[in-house]
Amino acid sequence: MILPVIAVIPALIAKQKERGFWTFYVFGLLLWIVAVVVAVAMEDRRRHCPHCVETINSTATVCPHCRRDIESRELVDRAQRELMGPPGFEPGTNGL
Ligand SMILES: [Zn+2]
Repeated sequence: MILPVIAVIPALIAKQKERGFWTFYVFGLLLWIVAVVVAVAMEDRRRHCPHCVETINSTATVCPHCRRDIESRELVDRAQRELMGPPGFEPGTNGL
């Protein structure tokens, strides 16, 4: 039986994206091709530390490699929205 071996494929893809290895292993045992498609298509939760460029979880607030503070993706997104202003707003037209 090859299924217990090939079920590792979606599990490893999920693990790379900081998702549950065993969840996708069991998913792979049950519905292998669906598990592979979902594992490939799902959003990657990783990003890179702005200081040391190591791969970290997108929700991390402190880099596990260099121990420096990093803003979470939500905070960065919010800051970018505030900087850019509402849709249609052109930076540099408010006298700054
Ligand atoms: Zn770092």
